Amino acid sequence: MSRPEIRVSGLHKSFGSNEVLRGIDLEIGQGEVVCVIGPSGSGKSTLLRCVNLLEEPTRGQVFVGGTELTDPDVDIDAARRRIGMVFQQFNLFPHLTVTENLTLPQRRVLRRSKAEAAKAAAENLRRVGLAEKADAYPSSLSGGQQQRVAIARALAMGPAVMLFDEPTSALDPELVGDVLAVMRMLADEGMTMMVVTHEMTFAREVADRVVFMDGGVIVEDGAPEQVIGAPRHERTRHFLSRLL
Ligand code: ADP
Ligand code: MG
Repeated sequence: MSRPEIRVSGLHKSFGSNEVLRGIDLEIGQGEVVCVIGPSGSGKSTLLRCVNLLEEPTRGQVFVGGTELTDPDVDIDAARRRIGMVFQQFNLFPHLTVTENLTLPQRRVLRRSKAEAAKAAAENLRRVGLAEKADAYPSSLSGGQQQRVAIARALAMGPAVMLFDEPTSALDPELVGDVLAVMRMLADEGMTMMVVTHEMTFAREVADRVVFMDGGVIVEDGAPEQVIGAPRHERTRHFLSRLL
């Protein structure tokens, strides 16, 4: 593997007495695409949220781009700027235009000038195929378009790593393809990506590795053709059989 861009080591996370992550070890190399699959409640979202410290791990370490985010002395805001996150819900500001949704975090967090922020906004709207929606309001867009705006908003911050938490799960089936196409483009461009998804075709075709989680542990971690095509563990087989 190339130098790990994301490294999670001995990660535990409990909510009260509920131990949700029970010792996760995971490395994701630069430019690698890793899909995380597993049943509801297995800890996928919690893992993703621990990677950018939206959740504070109970124990263990998280490194992104060589910086330890779990180091109490780290500048967490600076470290988080390397990490883009896209959620199931797009979380766009309804009272702002598409462009304003993209420029606001750049201005606030990166202190970019208006012109710089506008330039990055336009560039990234073009990347996701929505240049013509620059002045539209989110409510006038389809769910798939809104999610592509959310992706463009994350990209405009210039992240080294992108985290996706079930980005297509809230979409009508006919809108899923456009969002997956954008994610595929990012993968082809060499973006380091960690994607929680139930889209097995995407996982098979785009992921370098698939990680199957159950009960707060990684049960299986390997090439898609192995984990999805020829799972070694009964729990993985059971999960996959229920998806079909
Ligand atoms: P998944 O994304 O795989 O469905 P989650 O990581 O969302 O799983 O949740 C795993 C477990 O952690 C669930 O039992 C859930 O109820 C619990 N959990 C997640 N977030 C919180 C929270 N903020 N407070 C308490 N419990 C939580
Ligand atoms: Mg989840």
